[in-house]
Amino acid sequence: MSKTKSDIVAGLGGDRELYSGLIRLHILHHAAEERIFGLGMVEELARHGYRISPGTLYPLLHGLERKGYLRSSEKRLGKTSRREYQATALGKKALNGASNKLRELFGELIEGK
Ligand SMILES: [Zn+2]
Repeated sequence: MSKTKSDIVAGLGGDRELYSGLIRLHILHHAAEERIFGLGMVEELARHGYRISPGTLYPLLHGLERKGYLRSSEKRLGKTSRREYQATALGKKALNGASNKLRELFGELIEGK
């Protein structure tokens, strides 16, 4: 099963390309603060109005892990287990750089500076 890039951010209509970077940053932000897991992140993103299915979120998580921004481990929960993700030092550094860019963009876009 292969997913194309445009499948990644389903549920955002024709604007999905614009949002895909924001969603990655959003994931990275939460992973820098606490351990996150797929379904929890699906709910968190839904809270912000991003409707993403687990099938589209997991490739994002894997991609961020491949880049070295996230590290994952298996957590045992009784008889089952789930994979949890947390930001690496590299991921936090990338997030920092992106935050500066976002601040700049926010200034222009929202505050009209
Ligand atoms: Zn959030």
